Amino acid sequence: MKRKAQALASMEPIFENRGASIMGPRNIPLENENPDQLISPSTDAGTIPNLKFSFSAARNRLAEGGWAREITVRELPVAKTMAGVNMRLTPGGIREMHWHKEAEWGFMLAGRARITAIDPEGRNFIDDVGVGDLWNFPKGIPHSIQGLEEGCEFLLVFDDGHFSENETFLLSDWFVHTPKEVLAKNFGVSESAFAKVPKDVEHSRWIFAGNVPGPISKDAVKSPKGEIPVKYSYRLSSQKPIKVEGGEVRIVDSKNFPAATTIAAALVEINPGCIRELHWHPNEDEWQYFISGKGRMTVFASGGRARTFNYQGGDVGYVPFAMGHYVENIGDEPLRFLEVFRSSYFADISLNQWMALTPPELVQAHLNIDKQTLAALRKDKPVIASPKRKS
Ligand code: MN
Ligand code: MN
Repeated sequence: MKRKAQALASMEPIFENRGASIMGPRNIPLENENPDQLISPSTDAGTIPNLKFSFSAARNRLAEGGWAREITVRELPVAKTMAGVNMRLTPGGIREMHWHKEAEWGFMLAGRARITAIDPEGRNFIDDVGVGDLWNFPKGIPHSIQGLEEGCEFLLVFDDGHFSENETFLLSDWFVHTPKEVLAKNFGVSESAFAKVPKDVEHSRWIFAGNVPGPISKDAVKSPKGEIPVKYSYRLSSQKPIKVEGGEVRIVDSKNFPAATTIAAALVEINPGCIRELHWHPNEDEWQYFISGKGRMTVFASGGRARTFNYQGGDVGYVPFAMGHYVENIGDEPLRFLEVFRSSYFADISLNQWMALTPPELVQAHLNIDKQTLAALRKDKPVIASPKRKS
């Protein structure tokens, strides 16, 4: 019965008495990554848009100093509310000083970086962020990111699917596109001061190589207006997780990270064989980033429609607003991923808890389930469920 039993070398789209072998061309590595597409569960039905895109299939823009690749509404058309960028900076590598129309929420995957910003009151911000740390720059706020000694790699999430990392407001780009006499007037210096401003922004700036900065205490500029009072960084890895039977969860939104007024998230870790329970979100679409492990998710779209997808580290998933879903760990290591929402708060509704808190006769009348099953329902939220132990 288990599809796993089929040799990994090449699965055939056959399940019980349905399907047939593939006779035409095939891409076996891709099929192996997507077993629930090749042999879709019989519970899947109807048409549901694609809810998966991998950073491995995104164009990577290489620069001296690092690279960046993005998954926006162009790559994953259903993802209208949020876009993601995966960026790497070498030691000292600089993501140029810039700003954009969208808020930026960052999650450090590896290494460390120094981030800076200022606000409209002329107060400034500087911090060094490491693995598991977050940052949030509100829309329009100018900022920079620079790799420290070990370099770094991180995920950025923006609160608009139309965002593009290639269309941000760059410091050097503005200089190139402003008459020199205007620059001279603006800064109160002579035109010759700008003779060496780089002209080829496309190839020499945006991301570029730099020297590893010194200690933060020496690098920081003291503003007469002081520091930005709402901190733009947050140590998510130091936050005590909610431990549940099948894993753990850290929820971060404007309640514990006040700078993140438009992006809420949960960092979820599911033990092998366990499942992020059947649930939905009553506020927003869900944008997912898979960090490690192997998972599958079925999205229930109402009207008799459902579709199952597989995910692994580096993949992005998406769940349109209010659609029911679960995420199951189908690998043999913990499944770690981020659930991200364009919202000031995290919210979910548990199918299990809903049924437990509704008169049992009413629930029973819908599903013809027995008393034992009704008794197993949980008035608290399971969040991550583990398989029933064999008695
Ligand atoms: Mn940015
Ligand atoms: Mn969810």
